[in-house]
Amino acid sequence: MASKKKPIYFFGNGKAEGNAKMRELLGGKGTGLHEMTRIGVPVPPGFTISTEICAFYYAHRRRFPRDLEKQVARALGRMEKTLGRRFGDAHNPLLVSVRSGARESMPGMMDTVLNLGLNDRTVQGLIQCTNNPRFAYDSYRRFVQMYADVVLGMKASSKADTDPLVAILERKKNECRVQFDSELKATNLQELVEEYKAEIKRRVGKAFPEDPFEQLWGAVGAVFGSWNNDRALAYRDLYHIPHHWGTAVNVQAMVFGNLGDNCATGVAFTRDPATGDKRFYGEFLVNAQGEDVVAGIRTPKPIAELGDAMPRAFSQLQHVCALLEKHYKDMQDIEFTIENGKLWMLQTRTGKRTGFAAIRIAVDLVEERIISKQEALLRIEPDQLNQLLRPIFDQKDKDRSSKEGRLLGKGLAAGPGAATGRVVFHADDAVEWKKRGERVVLCREETSPDDISGMDAAQGILTARGGMTSHAALVARQMGKVCVAGCEALHIDYNARMLRVERAELKEGDWISIDGSTGEVFKGEIQTLPSEVLQVLLGQSLDAKQSRIFQKFARLMKWADEVRKLGVRTNADQPDQAAIAKAFGSEGIGLCRTEHMFFQGDRIQAVREMILADDEAGRRRALAKLLPMQKQDFKGLLEIMGRLPVTIRTLDPPLHEFLPKSDDAIVELAQVMGVSVELLRDKVNVLQEFNPMLGHRGCRLGISYPEITEMQAQAIFEAACELRREGKNPFPEVMIPLVGSRQELHEQRVIVERVARATMKSYGVKVRYLIGTMIELPRACMVADDIAREAEFFSFGTNDLTQTCLGLSRDDAGKFLPHYVLQGLLPDDPFVSIDQEGVGALMRIAVAKGRKTRKGLEMGICGEHGGDPKSVAFCHEIKLDYVSCSPYRVAIAKLAAAQAALRGTI
Ligand code: ADP
Ligand code: MG
Ligand code: MG
Repeated sequence: MASKKKPIYFFGNGKAEGNAKMRELLGGKGTGLHEMTRIGVPVPPGFTISTEICAFYYAHRRRFPRDLEKQVARALGRMEKTLGRRFGDAHNPLLVSVRSGARESMPGMMDTVLNLGLNDRTVQGLIQCTNNPRFAYDSYRRFVQMYADVVLGMKASSKADTDPLVAILERKKNECRVQFDSELKATNLQELVEEYKAEIKRRVGKAFPEDPFEQLWGAVGAVFGSWNNDRALAYRDLYHIPHHWGTAVNVQAMVFGNLGDNCATGVAFTRDPATGDKRFYGEFLVNAQGEDVVAGIRTPKPIAELGDAMPRAFSQLQHVCALLEKHYKDMQDIEFTIENGKLWMLQTRTGKRTGFAAIRIAVDLVEERIISKQEALLRIEPDQLNQLLRPIFDQKDKDRSSKEGRLLGKGLAAGPGAATGRVVFHADDAVEWKKRGERVVLCREETSPDDISGMDAAQGILTARGGMTSHAALVARQMGKVCVAGCEALHIDYNARMLRVERAELKEGDWISIDGSTGEVFKGEIQTLPSEVLQVLLGQSLDAKQSRIFQKFARLMKWADEVRKLGVRTNADQPDQAAIAKAFGSEGIGLCRTEHMFFQGDRIQAVREMILADDEAGRRRALAKLLPMQKQDFKGLLEIMGRLPVTIRTLDPPLHEFLPKSDDAIVELAQVMGVSVELLRDKVNVLQEFNPMLGHRGCRLGISYPEITEMQAQAIFEAACELRREGKNPFPEVMIPLVGSRQELHEQRVIVERVARATMKSYGVKVRYLIGTMIELPRACMVADDIAREAEFFSFGTNDLTQTCLGLSRDDAGKFLPHYVLQGLLPDDPFVSIDQEGVGALMRIAVAKGRKTRKGLEMGICGEHGGDPKSVAFCHEIKLDYVSCSPYRVAIAKLAAAQAALRGTI
């Protein structure tokens, strides 16, 4: 091996060779086990085979390094000495679990084998030691079943097919007339083992391995193998986890939650992962093992009841949880087993949480003095803030639905928010229907890793079984999906494609509404309202004091404001958008697209008159009609923004965008306008362009028709002067688009300045204003020093700069760009996240050249990228003054800016 690191790391008896910093080598689960051992938490002893061995395994045609066998034998020996049991011993056998564990947790992707080391001989030893044949055979039949699934590949081959061994178990339960496996007797379980083995021989063509070492190596190989199973590959693609990382393997002594009624197994979160409430949250099952809790076989009990059943173990568990939270300074997701009243911890990791919980927990931990404000800011994924804006159900409409008897049932509130959509039962259908533009709710008995893409496609997820730690709840939290889990009133019939409750039935395609904040499930559609946070921000019905989540959000934003260096503006053309942005704390408007105003109502008429006019006089007549309307618009925007800057871009799109395309529409318009069809058709033809993106647009329009720029400038300055007269202090920034040379900007600037001076003079007031340009052509970047002689600000139009830099049309790229990203030819979609190497390099040049000419030249970005956290970080790095994004992304941009500032200083 190239590395000098050890292949194997031992933990047990309060000592561990690994620690929390060795995640890359030991995987998440491994570091957790080592670290817990280290800090004195009770953990069964074991060892971790490092991820480097996994890499070796794949690099050497699925073979292990030569000396690994010796190393494993040595580590097993240490476990045997610690426990006084021996692996494969006929009298006092040591049993182990073989557990996968990658760097990032990949829920349900990898498989675990429990009770390994059992065979027909050692099971007798287990009976002797425990005096409990039922337990011994229960463990044995679980082992054979898991081994067959995980190592021998006997999982159900398709969704329609059930797992053959599960079918045998079901048959046995029916024969014995019991509902749960926990009710089967020792002899039944013993029979099951035999029946399983026979089925395995039949299907696999080989006998079940009796040799414990053969079992062990088979399991280790299977864990490594599972790193590249289809589910794991799909999951990593979805979450951009590198495929070369590999997984570690943990081999750990078994402890037993299935020894009797003073035994249990459970999972818990140290805080509520959906809301972030500070309360111990989890589930357990008495006399059970491993994944019984999450598998939805028996319904688990809420963790609080463990206090009644096993008070000592429960208080020990609470103590351990508090210790872990303090130690890791974050909410933990834990797995534990209680064996004869004694607590054993089997896993701890940072708990996945919803956006709501992320904010709540981060702010609470600061208030509890466990972390600093800076740490809190760095803990939250900026995109998670989106969840705060997700609509909620209109309470009145919901009440009405209840009165009409449309409430179908109640499950667990596993993913906050409201979702309405049409019922589908299979993940593939969810994907298909979404492609057709349908909104769907994926309804399942329970979900499995195969359903990931369908869960992603659905508006919301509804399951009939499973708890807060079930697969559905877990994944929903991670994806930020609306989810109601474990709604037991539901019966789902996959064959009939029906969902039944006592009084109602829903077919595939029927409408259903689920409330992931309350767990309620309704038939039909329910009206939605803006989220709690939005309602407070917009001053609708809710008051800040009534909304706890708003208060936490507001604190977080305040902390972000304290540290960020980048300003955050917004892209808005309408007063209502500007109002929302301002409520979110936007510090100005970074882009007002004036053409959007041209399309409203009957203005388009005047615009068309202008386009059709034969001469300047005709154009001026039409423009005069537009002037008062534009002025009103600008006044509205400037007024709302108060003293904050409002960047107004002069007309940008090619004129043919304002004319109809189809012949019918041309005929119709000709009538309305009272011109001949021929004339109109001619005009449309003349304006027709082969490549409109590079055509007669941007400042090129204003240069051909200076009167357009003149009218817009006049509207801007009349609006500003009127406000000034009213005692306000408006601050327009006039922005000339698509400039490629200083001369172009100069021509436009002269017009704007002349109008500004004349207007201010006639109103008798002075208005603060700037004249600047968009930087959206590579040439503009290269001659930015020259352009800066005329510009008081630069605003990077990164949409067009990306198109022109990469030679890529955004409207046509859909055919191949996704493939590029998937294949890694580009790290990200360059229209989502700035292409830092290419576009970013141009921006750096422009920044340097611009500031060389004019110190303090104001610089911002107004492309779509302004709301993308990665791009925001880049803008911070190249020292722009601000980013401008859509109103709903202002908070995201602020948090991203704060994080960029903190990462730069830490
Ligand atoms: P996953 O990654 O799917 O959570 P784990 O390796 O954590 O898989 O194993 C699943 C469950 O199996 C654990 O939560 C625990 O209940 C049980 N388990 C694993 N190892 C042991 C062990 N040594 N003793 C008892 N139970 C175990
Ligand atoms: Mg699992
Ligand atoms: Mg686990």
